[in-house]
Amino acid sequence: MTDKKTTQHSLKKDKYVNTRGGNSHFLDIYCCKCNQHLVLYQKDGHGSLLRMYLDRILEPQEFLLLQSKVGSKIEMPNLKCPKCNVLIGTPMLYKAEGRLAFRLVRGSFAKKKSEGVYPPLHQNQSHGKGEGDEDRN
Ligand SMILES: [Zn+2]
Repeated sequence: MTDKKTTQHSLKKDKYVNTRGGNSHFLDIYCCKCNQHLVLYQKDGHGSLLRMYLDRILEPQEFLLLQSKVGSKIEMPNLKCPKCNVLIGTPMLYKAEGRLAFRLVRGSFAKKKSEGVYPPLHQNQSHGKGEGDEDRN
């Protein structure tokens, strides 16, 4: 659709980062079921990943669009795997900061450390059976 160049993201630094001690890093989020790459995410601080803030989803671009479009969680769609349609997260409002986020479904996703490069460099590591998996992006 758009160009296929690789994008190198840089970490956002704002008040949310500071609140969490400044330990920010990138994560690639994958579907646990079919290994489809879902989003490139900036995680701030330690701790497990329970939700993904909309303003921290860096790729794909449709989430930036979504962020500028929606004003409340009612307008947000569920986060689903585009490939196998499994439910990954549901809309929520993190009240303490007034930020929209996806509450993640446990076990529906896998995360890998990322350098902030999109699309991810190591996308097609097969998980055993990779039959009929044509990925021509
Ligand atoms: Zn999937």
